[in-house]
Amino acid sequence: LFITFEGPEGAGKTSVIQKLAAELTEQEYPILLTREPGGIAIAEQIRHVILDCDNTEMDARTEALLYAAARRQHLVERVIPALKENKIVLCDRFIDSSLAYQGYARGIGVEDVLSINEFATEKMLPSLTIYFDIEPEAGLKRIAANNNREINRLDQEKLDFHYKVKEGYDLVKEKYGERIRVVDASMDFESVCNQAREVLISYFSK
Ligand code: C5P
Ligand code: MG
Repeated sequence: LFITFEGPEGAGKTSVIQKLAAELTEQEYPILLTREPGGIAIAEQIRHVILDCDNTEMDARTEALLYAAARRQHLVERVIPALKENKIVLCDRFIDSSLAYQGYARGIGVEDVLSINEFATEKMLPSLTIYFDIEPEAGLKRIAANNNREINRLDQEKLDFHYKVKEGYDLVKEKYGERIRVVDASMDFESVCNQAREVLISYFSK
């Protein structure tokens, strides 16, 4: 089973998945928790190229191609081998992030980003995606609170981009409705965990 987790920053994906992966592992589910670039050396190096320059410097299509390249290497080196061993792969972000961030928010176009990603993944898609739904303000506030500070001017400027990311994800949800389950990520940590756990457990027992 290949299961991905999506949503904007500050939605709490990473901490929720870590808790659930630990619980499920304890219950002897064969879990592999990963994220792109997932410690795969080649993919990590690609990721550094993306993160080491500021957003204005890198062309949006270059960025989209690099994400797709890192995605492929992680898929081939880590995800597919684990699936062959019948593991349940839980992956923090995957193709939908590129559709929302690069395709929609950065304005390349969802269809073009989909096509380079279909090339990269040979059209492999997760069987289930859990989407962490949160309003952009609430997500940014959570990030600021985690960093022990007030929302600053830079965050306000980021807000427009976050709205676009959310609109991008809305398009993705329309397109892939049946593989995506939405949880309300604005609630407290325990109840977001409960919602996500319920989705996973009911999916496992199908
Ligand atoms: O997964 P996480 O929330 O830590 O994402 C790290 C950063 O990478 C985020 O700030 C997000 O904006 C960015 N990102 C992106 N395009 C992707 C995936 C992540 O811009 N396809
Ligand atoms: Mg995260």
